[in-house]
Amino acid sequence: MAKEVTYVMIKPDGVKQKLFSKICKVFLENDLDVIEIQNEIVLKKDIVREHYSHLLNESFYPDLESFMLSGPVIPMIVYGEDAVSKVRALIGPTNVKKAREESPNSIRALYGNPDFGPANVIHASDSRENALIEIKRFFNKELQRSKEVLTSSSIIPLSLNCAI
Ligand code: UDP
Ligand code: MG
Repeated sequence: MAKEVTYVMIKPDGVKQKLFSKICKVFLENDLDVIEIQNEIVLKKDIVREHYSHLLNESFYPDLESFMLSGPVIPMIVYGEDAVSKVRALIGPTNVKKAREESPNSIRALYGNPDFGPANVIHASDSRENALIEIKRFFNKELQRSKEVLTSSSIIPLSLNCAI
């Protein structure tokens, strides 16, 4: 299995719960590197609409949008063997009730709100292709080849910063 990057974002409910270190620890303990982290940032409406454009017509979209604008998020890039599917497995199913039933140790099961759909703590890309699109969207840089990420001087300091 090849090494690859994926885009991860701690959502406002995860930032409010101060989950950054705990979430980094989960990735690091599963042989994934956290290679880029952006400062806490409150997103603009346009980027939320673009990021969730596949959901614009869903009845829950207004709740999702206002939730995503309700506080800062933390964009991250995670790198490693099979990172896209590995991270999706570690965060667990979209629906927190389902996550609690099917994957009780997952991040969403442990920290998500089962009574409010949007509040599931964390986003992660669902494919390699979307990972590159989302990294460009939130980090404003192209990462076509994971080699470019590997050579990033930030790998070691940022991983150590996770205070495990
Ligand atoms: N969401 C929601 N209600 C739903 C489905 C999704 O509020 O019935 C929110 C939830 O925050 C989810 C986000 O919309 O994480 C994006 O949905 P998607 O289907 O892409 O799930 P994900 O890829 O985040 O697991
Ligand atoms: Mg999705």
